[in-house]
Amino acid sequence: MTDPAARARELDAQDALAAYRSEFLPMDPVAAYLDGNSLGRPLKASADALDTLVRQQWATRLIQGWTDEWMDWPEQTGDTVARVCLGAAAGQTIVADSTTVMLYKLARAAVAARPDRHKIVLDRDNFPTDRYVLEGISRECGLELVWIETDPDEGAHPEQVAAVLDDDVALVVLSHVAYRSAWLADAQAITRLAHDHGALMLWDLCHSVGAVPMQLDDWDVDFAVGCTYKYLNGGPGAPAFGYVNQRLLGEAYQPIQGWMGRHDPFLMEQGYVAAQGIRSFVSGTPPIVGMVPLRASLEVIERAGVEAIRAKSVALTQFVIETVDSWGEPAGGPVRIASPRNADRRGGHVTLCRNDFRAVNDRLWRESVIPDFREPDGIRIGLSPLSTSFAEVAHSLDVLRGQLG
Ligand SMILES: *Cc1c(COP(=O)(O)O)cnc(C)c1O
Repeated sequence: MTDPAARARELDAQDALAAYRSEFLPMDPVAAYLDGNSLGRPLKASADALDTLVRQQWATRLIQGWTDEWMDWPEQTGDTVARVCLGAAAGQTIVADSTTVMLYKLARAAVAARPDRHKIVLDRDNFPTDRYVLEGISRECGLELVWIETDPDEGAHPEQVAAVLDDDVALVVLSHVAYRSAWLADAQAITRLAHDHGALMLWDLCHSVGAVPMQLDDWDVDFAVGCTYKYLNGGPGAPAFGYVNQRLLGEAYQPIQGWMGRHDPFLMEQGYVAAQGIRSFVSGTPPIVGMVPLRASLEVIERAGVEAIRAKSVALTQFVIETVDSWGEPAGGPVRIASPRNADRRGGHVTLCRNDFRAVNDRLWRESVIPDFREPDGIRIGLSPLSTSFAEVAHSLDVLRGQLG
């Protein structure tokens, strides 16, 4: 490889999405941000939209805001997520709750829709909240957890899922992109396998939504859940989204029966009667403030297009891998690339491992280069295509290289 800084200048010059960087608020004194897959950077449009919400809609419309438009935001914003990012038709997606709570609601709805089955399939390296939520559901509903032992540098392969499926499996829960390795699961093939055994499939899209194109309707996915504060730039604690295939609306019911998911909530009636359609997956008052930056960001992502975002994402991760490969055997020992080398199986980040990387990560933060550290020895280089330049990545890797004593 030619000098990484020179290569980065070339790649930035060819970058069709380069102009989008100026739509984000400045981040100085941070020199390089490699965590857009964990907390996306704020857009200028989000700051403006929040100001408008507070000063105009909230301040002057007050409670009328609910009937003006806020009441419909869970479905309306969900439909936008579906159209822009999920490859899903309207009427199947809502924005509400946190990912953890939404995952619980959808997984409970799924197992309740398969009452004669007794197993949930999951993998050992899924994100902690996914494992913990399913452990709780297993205890609560008396279901057995069937663990797939995934390679931490990869993730669930279709053959591994096939090996544990049988006609007693109610639900399979996996991440589309693994939070540690960035393994991109073959969601279509795995969904088909689950269906061949009569099981339901729930995909966690936290690390793929907004970075990897998907076709939930065509893949016939049953349920999906995802974050909006990672690649969707919704801001700290922004609400989650949940997708329920329309086939299952009217068959699958979530467990947190709040007034906002009831048919005609303002009748304040006795007895819960689920609302029609995806609205029945809402529980309480919609997090309006939390949806404002997300709505602004979805407008930008739609303009850029997820296909173009994915193309840049692949180029960014490829650039990281090529640069690290060009180091050969640095002082202190080789850096291991703990992410798939095959771009078709790789999401939007690259994890680099070495046994001293916890200390190295601390030193990078002191240099205003901000990746994140993942136990036990991984520095995760997250690359959010709309806000990250190749020069920023080249600088970060140069600083990292300088720390490899
Ligand atoms: C980030 C992430 C979550 C986060 O859940 P919260 O309820 O928002 O804290 C869940 N699952 C996966 C796979 C994630 O990457």
